[in-house]
Amino acid sequence: METKRVLNFSAGPSMLPVEVLEKAREQMLNYGNSGMSVMEMSHRSSSYLAIFDNTKALLKKVMNIPEGYEIVFIQGGATQQFSMIPMNYLKNGKSDYAVTGAFSKKAMQEAKKFGDVRIAFDGASNQYKDIPSQEELQLDNTASYVHYCANNTIYGTEWKYVPETNGVPIICDMSSNILSKPVDVSKYGMIYAGAQKNMGIAGLGVAIIKKELLQPVPERTPVLLDYTLQIENDSMYNTPPAYAIYVLGLVLEWIDGLGGLEAMEVKNKEKAAILYDYLDSSDFYKTHSNKENRSLMNVTFVTASKELDDLFVKESIKQGMTNLKGHRSVGGIRASIYNAMPKAGVEQLVAFMKEFEERNK
Ligand code: PMP
Repeated sequence: METKRVLNFSAGPSMLPVEVLEKAREQMLNYGNSGMSVMEMSHRSSSYLAIFDNTKALLKKVMNIPEGYEIVFIQGGATQQFSMIPMNYLKNGKSDYAVTGAFSKKAMQEAKKFGDVRIAFDGASNQYKDIPSQEELQLDNTASYVHYCANNTIYGTEWKYVPETNGVPIICDMSSNILSKPVDVSKYGMIYAGAQKNMGIAGLGVAIIKKELLQPVPERTPVLLDYTLQIENDSMYNTPPAYAIYVLGLVLEWIDGLGGLEAMEVKNKEKAAILYDYLDSSDFYKTHSNKENRSLMNVTFVTASKELDDLFVKESIKQGMTNLKGHRSVGGIRASIYNAMPKAGVEQLVAFMKEFEERNK
């Protein structure tokens, strides 16, 4: 039976590669002659442990994670880690946060519950259109860590460099651009993400942690919020999000088979250029972010009025394109074009944008 699929521009949970969905379907009822679905397996069974170990090994390979780093799979998404970060890494109570969007603000607010937070940059007064330059960052050399969010999903901005922090460990939320391009993991104390964009499905949070950063946590720390304890138990102190880890493995196999993160970056730059080149050539649409900070993953723009934005979204759905409505806090239009969005999907969107402009300008 032919399955009619839409072009899903959702910011997350978002589109998955068809090849991944097909593989999951093929293995659904009987995974590798186990006689059961991955969903039904004990997380301690040999069948499941092979999946788990393979996923970790693939993440290490694809992201080129150096020795001295540990991978943790947990529940609670990226948001739970907003709380875990100050609970685990504060030394003298001090931390620095660069606030470039809604999620870095949430991370900062959570850290305030545990210590003394300095704002290294605040983009609020310019509607989060900017990413600070190195010179604009006000860093404290005595902070326990510096936190920033590499890609601002709601506003459509992305850091194009890794800040220099004078030896202070960097903790980075990469929820919406992890696996979209190569990163030098060795520059980070910790990288973390919710999986439901480029890594697979909701229910899984991933953390890549430099072992050196770990220190004993206060005794009252809940067990599941202690990174050291998670590592000591190889993410199996309790039942991990087993199926989501399996899907991450399928996604990583797909990326690896296409040439890894270098190949993803080439494709992602190509897709984003198709959209931004058209947006720059048009007077009808206006992007939210400043040109030099534009995200390769979330492309945010508006027409001249809210009515036209709404009409655009309504008509796009009829054309088989969904979830183009901007985030409820900023409005407008947002096209999320993660790894799984094909180039042809972006071309179809631009063709519709041109046609919509012609009819409404
Ligand atoms: N950080 C970023 C950059 C995000 O885009 C999101 C979710 N869209 C979050 C954090 C929160 O993630 P979760 O829902 O997994 O807690």
